Amino acid sequence: MQQNQLMSEWLASTALGGANQSYVEDIYEQYLADPQSVDASWQEIFNTFPKLSVSEQPHSQVRDYFRRLARDNSPQGVTVIDPDAGAKQVRLLQWVNAYRFRGHLEATLDPLNYYRWKRSTVPELDYRNHGFTDEDLNETFNIGRYVFDKETMTLKELAQSLKETYCGNIGLEFMHVSDIEQKRWLQAKIESSLNKPLFSKEEKVRFLKELTAADGLERYLGAKFPGAKRFSLEGSDAFIPMMKEIIRHSAKQGVTDVVMGMAHRGRLNMLVNVLGKKPAELFDEFAGKHSGNRTGDVKYHQGFSSDFATEHGNVHLALAFNPSHLEIVSPVVIGSVRARQNRIHDKDYSKVLAVTVHGDSAVAGQGVVQETLNMSDARGYTVGGSIRIVINNQIGFTTSNPNDTRSTEYCTDIAKMIQAPIIHVNGDDPEAVAFAAQMAVEYRTLFKQDIFIDLISYRRHGHNEADEPLATQPMMYSIIKKHPTPRKVYADRLIQEGIISGEQEIEMINLYRDALDNGECVVQEFREMDMTKVDWLQYLDQDWNSPYQAHFAQDRFVALAKRVSTYPENHKPHSRVEKIYNDRLEMANGNKLLDWGMAETMAYATLLDEGVHVRLSGEDAGRGTFFHRHAVIHNQNDGTGYIPLVNLHAQQGRFEVWDSVLSEEAVLAFEYGYAVTDPKTLTIWEAQFGDFANGAQVVIDQFISSGEQKWGRMCGLVLLLPHGYEGQGPEHSSARLERYLQLCAEQNMQVCIPSTPAQVYHMLRRQALRKMRRPLVAISPKSLLRHPLAVSSLEELTEGEFQNVIGEIDNLDPKQVKRVILCSGKVYYDLLEQRRANNQQDIAIIRLEQLYPYPHEEVKAILAPYAHVTDYVWCQEEPQNQGAWYCSKHNFEASIPEQAKLRYAGRPASASPAVGYMSLHTKQQKALVDDALN
Ligand code: AMP
Repeated sequence: MQQNQLMSEWLASTALGGANQSYVEDIYEQYLADPQSVDASWQEIFNTFPKLSVSEQPHSQVRDYFRRLARDNSPQGVTVIDPDAGAKQVRLLQWVNAYRFRGHLEATLDPLNYYRWKRSTVPELDYRNHGFTDEDLNETFNIGRYVFDKETMTLKELAQSLKETYCGNIGLEFMHVSDIEQKRWLQAKIESSLNKPLFSKEEKVRFLKELTAADGLERYLGAKFPGAKRFSLEGSDAFIPMMKEIIRHSAKQGVTDVVMGMAHRGRLNMLVNVLGKKPAELFDEFAGKHSGNRTGDVKYHQGFSSDFATEHGNVHLALAFNPSHLEIVSPVVIGSVRARQNRIHDKDYSKVLAVTVHGDSAVAGQGVVQETLNMSDARGYTVGGSIRIVINNQIGFTTSNPNDTRSTEYCTDIAKMIQAPIIHVNGDDPEAVAFAAQMAVEYRTLFKQDIFIDLISYRRHGHNEADEPLATQPMMYSIIKKHPTPRKVYADRLIQEGIISGEQEIEMINLYRDALDNGECVVQEFREMDMTKVDWLQYLDQDWNSPYQAHFAQDRFVALAKRVSTYPENHKPHSRVEKIYNDRLEMANGNKLLDWGMAETMAYATLLDEGVHVRLSGEDAGRGTFFHRHAVIHNQNDGTGYIPLVNLHAQQGRFEVWDSVLSEEAVLAFEYGYAVTDPKTLTIWEAQFGDFANGAQVVIDQFISSGEQKWGRMCGLVLLLPHGYEGQGPEHSSARLERYLQLCAEQNMQVCIPSTPAQVYHMLRRQALRKMRRPLVAISPKSLLRHPLAVSSLEELTEGEFQNVIGEIDNLDPKQVKRVILCSGKVYYDLLEQRRANNQQDIAIIRLEQLYPYPHEEVKAILAPYAHVTDYVWCQEEPQNQGAWYCSKHNFEASIPEQAKLRYAGRPASASPAVGYMSLHTKQQKALVDDALN
């Protein structure tokens, strides 16, 4: 009784009372669940505990442990319990952990030491807040093997070490990483770097040279083209040595290709000082010289490719072209990296690295960052981790107050959603920056996960060079005006360290300026790239009529059709899927006409058979939104999937089908990146419903429709956009055809509306086999997937080809025809059925299967027998202000005889794409069909 009382008094008097006791108990319970999940220093303590019996509670063991510690620490023979001895150790570990968790908050990260970073101190980092006093400073503690490679330290030494490690020019945020091995590695990396010389003299001189180049280029451009927009890097100059260090260090780890994406800031610097673009070419661009027949793009959107020599071999560098929409290039880069990894069979992601560069306001503000990070570990989209750099100049255009730019502590807090570690680093310390670069490369190499570097710096000028930043940021810019450049800061440091002399500093500056005057490449490591890896030349100057082999041998077709319609005997599909596969087998055997799902599958099968790769991704792409595809058969007994298209034969092309993360913007951008990198894979993105592509509008406007014209980058991407007015309401009816048609010009892309299974088959094959690589927007059906009239014969597939326009199919006498209806898509079947029901022999119905490029000659040929007709109708399901009417009317008018009139039959103009009531929909649909026919 007395014992118990003593114990509870003791507990109450120690730091184990209250919160601390429960803190230790929590860790102990965590340890019991998984010993590896707690820090090694805790493991050492808990390993000494006897095995827990069933009835024992963890907290009693914790209590016993400290009782034992207290007894052991008490003077020999005296049974007085020291209330503090054991708890001290716990408090010490808590304090150390506080640095690991929150040390970055006191790190010296901001070169300007401006308001955001003048934060109040973090109380947990003060040992006095963990029950220690100054009298303890010289006491020696066991700090556990995992801290600073030492067993013991005095409190004073430990305080110093913690501060230097966690509160210097690097602030490491890593305690949110739950993987214990990763966490330990990060901790060891940062803690073991303390007091060690990190870089040799040669390396330091190299960093200064690279800073001199970064600084020199901006000054040169500023002097030569005053006021011209260049989105200067000045203030964040350390970005250049950082990038070069990432490339060098990656090469050491076996990387052969680095694909990069970045917005405007510093891009010209990157082009000249990392990728090796000739300064003379850049100067020409500044001077407004125009070359080639493309309409081009501004200089700070340009991409570039080159090879970069390192002592571990050449690394191929590709900087992606990008529009002004800052963050959208990241998923494009990731798609490109995935394509390259597939191309060289880089299965363990060790050879191709993605580096995406972000702005501080954009990384926190733009949703596509979240979408991109959400794809980082998803099977269909992962590239084994990327290095994400934030050029954090603490301002976005004229907005710098963190109360306006975000609602998070750091702009990089989004990284925590995927538990990516974040290395915050002071941009005025190039050695810390290079250390961060190496750490990021090593982490990504080891763990194949994303990691962030937050390069905290500033922007010396306005958003662009014509701006006056003092107008909106008077306090910040009064500091910046007085602040020495990063080059100067580092040069002074190296002079002070005796590594260079003042004369050498000046010589470096002059040498770089002379090189710019020369106009030739200023990157020593630059090498001409090896162009044999991908041959884009064969796709140059191809047009819509480039010939290809449309026909496919029938016996081989039938063999493939059987192959894709069967699955292993022990694989049990759902009964509805089984029925679809049984039907497909019937189609293969010639007993049934082919439906949409089968024809589409056969397009893939025949392409794969010919060695073409196919990649299809989108929301629910495996099954298909409308239950028609079933590219993956799910075994009802064990949930495993079987993909017939992967199992054709050993020499077939690669087939991938991925149910995408629920995103349109990042996924479509990813697929664009894939297609723009790999001309040999038929790359397809499917929208769940056509108008879901609205969420990816920037990809369509800024890349798909205009990328070739702006940047000369060809792209054979296919968009499958389900469309059709079937009474499903405003959001599930229209693929917004009008939007695509409005973007069409200069033969930039194709817009097709296939209306039969044979047509979808040929459309996809043509896209892959014809040597032209231009985007294909395919308006695909919903109800037609199962429409009894929308079927095709085997011969139509094997012997036919894509028809840009399809003439009248019923046996009408053209001379009797008094009206010709032109239409596209599903409404054709409504018209056909109604005309047949009405027994109207004097109306011909013509289908336009490709609306852009408009097939003038073919339409003319098909309309030739109706030269006498003066009554032409364009019939569409969409409201008048939508669909093809306004965008393609001029083409229809050009196709009909001169004396003829073209009339519109369709829904009246409407603000909404479709009505929400089935009854109203039916009424409208009947009215437009009647209007066309009567
Ligand atoms: P990359 O592998 O992306 O660095 O590209 C290397 C070179 O291939 C580029 O410099 C271009 O000449 C060519 N190239 C790459 N992608 C395309 C494309 N989509 N269209 C045309 N040419 C391309």
